[in-house]
Amino acid sequence: MSRKLRNILVCAGPTQEKLDPVRYLSNHSSGKMGYALAQAAKKYGHVVLVSGPTALKAPQNCKFIPVVTAREMEKEMLKQFPKADLTIMVAAVADYRPETVARQKIKKTADTLILRLVKNPDILKKLGERKKNNQILVGFAAETQNALAYGRKKLAEKNLDWIVVNNVAKKGIGFGAEENEAVLLSRGGKTIPFAKQDKKRLAAKLLELIARKMDLT
Ligand code: C5P
Repeated sequence: MSRKLRNILVCAGPTQEKLDPVRYLSNHSSGKMGYALAQAAKKYGHVVLVSGPTALKAPQNCKFIPVVTAREMEKEMLKQFPKADLTIMVAAVADYRPETVARQKIKKTADTLILRLVKNPDILKKLGERKKNNQILVGFAAETQNALAYGRKKLAEKNLDWIVVNNVAKKGIGFGAEENEAVLLSRGGKTIPFAKQDKKRLAAKLLELIARKMDLT
């Protein structure tokens, strides 16, 4: 029997981790893949998009929740997750944040400056721990080597149903690019490759396949 997807939760973009009133630590995530997934997901249900800071316009007709830091993202995702039938975590969460945030701008005095960083929460892992049987959880893995092996390991460790793996060392795909090339790995051991293509097309194809394989359309 097929059932319709109702609530789809997408988490996209980078996080910014404050260092002082004018500086932060972040990464090159543009949010393009995540926003394309949120846009494509509207066909299957109501979409909530939790996003770190990006230059993109939020897709229309979805609930948009902007966040800045990993801990803000974690708080929102844990709040939204219980209502979601399908959750896709594509955000590039900063793995570490400065241990302290300077109250004033850090002045350039010494020739070297050591920053002490502390680990951010692994949001996806927490979602995997809370996942109920009727929820589908999808992660992404951007790798520069042994992509499939690392992807499989993450799929198991984070208790995911699917993981989308891409090799970000390849030119013209991944962070910031318009195109992406990916391999979708399933919990049951399937390996489904997707050729290099526009992120919007790839998003539509990934969602279509996930919805179909899970008998959700
Ligand atoms: O372990 P790694 O960072 O490679 O895993 C990537 C996946 O985990 C992505 O789906 C990313 O959104 C998610 N992630 C997370 N919280 C972190 C780091 C990654 O949710 N602190």
